[in-house]
Amino acid sequence: MSALCKYCGQKYNDARTLLGNSCSKHPDGRGRHALFEGDTEGPFYCVHCGQKYGELRSLVSNSCTRNPDGRYHEPYDGDVAGDFTCKYCGRTYRDIRNMVANSCPKNPVRGGRHSPAR
Ligand SMILES: [Zn+2]
Ligand SMILES: [Zn+2]
Ligand SMILES: [Zn+2]
Repeated sequence: MSALCKYCGQKYNDARTLLGNSCSKHPDGRGRHALFEGDTEGPFYCVHCGQKYGELRSLVSNSCTRNPDGRYHEPYDGDVAGDFTCKYCGRTYRDIRNMVANSCPKNPVRGGRHSPAR
């Protein structure tokens, strides 16, 4: 089983090696890679804008206009096989892009959108 870093998308043969190496894209500036917990085969979706990528590496290195705390897309690491469920209101969507484009009445941020739960 290959392991991917959720920050930079780098691929390792095992999680141990991944967690032992430092990551150039760590959100704190420096730190080690963190394990991406979703399906390493992809496809990969951004939790903020729903954009789909075939490679995690491309997702995390492209800028996201909807990420409130960062510049890049952030990968959704839940199950991508079924419908996506909003973590605030529980509404389900088949298409993640459609989900994150709509505002959620239960989002604690006023006017915020639905966000996929894992
Ligand atoms: Zn990394
Ligand atoms: Zn995005
Ligand atoms: Zn919602």
